[in-house]
Amino acid sequence: MKYSSTRGSKKTLSAAEAIIRGIAEDGGLFMPETLPQIDGDFIKELLPLTYQARAIKVLEKFLTDYTQEELRLCVENAYRPETFDCVAIAPTVDFGAKYEMLELWHGPTSAFKDMALQLLPQLMSVALKKTGETAEIVILVATSGDTGKAALEGFKDVEQIRIMVFYPQEGVSRMQRLQMVTQQGGNVSVVAVSGNFDDAQTGVKQIFNDAGFNQDLAANGFQLSSANSINWGRLAPQIVYYFSAYADLVNTKKIALGDFVNFTVPTGNFGNILAGYYAKCMGLPVRKLICASNENNVLTDFLRTGVYNRNRAFHKTNTPSMDILISSNLERLLYLICGDAVQVKVWMEALQAHGEYKIGEAHLQRMQETFWADWADDQKTCETIQSVYKAHHYVMDTHTAVAWAVAESYEGITGDTTPMVVVSTASPYKFNESVLVALAVETVQGDDAFAMLAALEDVNAVKAPPSLKNLRTAAVLHEKSCGKGEMMRAVRQFLR
Ligand SMILES: *Cc1c(COP(=O)(O)O)cnc(C)c1O
Repeated sequence: MKYSSTRGSKKTLSAAEAIIRGIAEDGGLFMPETLPQIDGDFIKELLPLTYQARAIKVLEKFLTDYTQEELRLCVENAYRPETFDCVAIAPTVDFGAKYEMLELWHGPTSAFKDMALQLLPQLMSVALKKTGETAEIVILVATSGDTGKAALEGFKDVEQIRIMVFYPQEGVSRMQRLQMVTQQGGNVSVVAVSGNFDDAQTGVKQIFNDAGFNQDLAANGFQLSSANSINWGRLAPQIVYYFSAYADLVNTKKIALGDFVNFTVPTGNFGNILAGYYAKCMGLPVRKLICASNENNVLTDFLRTGVYNRNRAFHKTNTPSMDILISSNLERLLYLICGDAVQVKVWMEALQAHGEYKIGEAHLQRMQETFWADWADDQKTCETIQSVYKAHHYVMDTHTAVAWAVAESYEGITGDTTPMVVVSTASPYKFNESVLVALAVETVQGDDAFAMLAALEDVNAVKAPPSLKNLRTAAVLHEKSCGKGEMMRAVRQFLR
């Protein structure tokens, strides 16, 4: 299967090439040229399989230039018992007559980013061998918290690849900072940038776009690449868990084979929910995908009206991983809905130039056949954590709570009784402080992150991940910092 750009460039690439490049030369995102379809027995065959075996079955439909053996090795290296604290990898939790919860945070960094960022480095490594690429790949990441750590864990000690993460000195939580500055691995570098996330992000973009610098790197055998969610190698692994969750529901007799289900997904960059749409397009019986946003509700408005308008105030919320006004992966949905790269390019140029675009009524209707959207503010999110805790003794993280609240809103408004899967994207321990506030636990004095961890453990049947607890005594290995204008020099130093 070949991959081509959402913006119409005629060039087609293999999956391996698309994964190494990350983004198309015309600025578009890579899409498979055809959508593979499942046959009648596909899901039945998944039922008795492990998550890893299910992953191979789904991935081989997209990564057709990888051999079975290559895929098996990639998947086994990615989803290991040493790195995932649950043999099911992505377990579903039953809430009786209420929802099913798909927990995607059992990986090494306790957020759903691990589902893809444990596999992407494996896929990239194999891609380098397959394509005969001899350059050393340098992954640059600007992070607001979760992606940086997940990428570091995924790429640490991977041959022929180095990774450098820039985080904003003033922008990450204490837990997130500790997760990054204690990172082990011989090929990693972590640097604090004096400034906020935008400064770090702008700096990384400048490095990517500096032709002279890139030529210089090439002459020394290096090539820059990206690990953010526009890379197809991050999207494909996410399709797997929609199939896996469905198979689990059949196995536990919550549904019969062939029954429809709905998914509600806490959404930021539109990567997670888009993977669900791919699963549906392939033939997974999904009725609705419900897009849950926080107060930065640009997607809610878009999916309701067809107008995407990022010209609005940016809100800092208690769901920071969803604080985003430009959802990059929406471009892939637009392409799937209208099938016209010229049109997609026009919309994306309007977004760039004016911060706004509008799709036509027919396209909007097509989208609304599958997507429904709503949002929850911080207060609603806290109330939901509280009420689910009271009813089910289950502690959710804030992002998951947004999804739960929106799932309830969907059912209330539409009366749809299709079984609902709420997608859970982070361990509550990663967002201790907000969760404790929501649960009205007042035993912690000051802002000691580890006291908060302990306080949350006191009220949660699920214990805190050891990787978070161990941060208290972990050695700090990365103390570098640099000014906004010094990031390129930091890259040079790292590669020297
Ligand atoms: C990244 C992230 C999201 C948003 O996922 P997208 O694929 O960007 O829509 C939601 N919750 C958590 C905890 C995340 O880390």
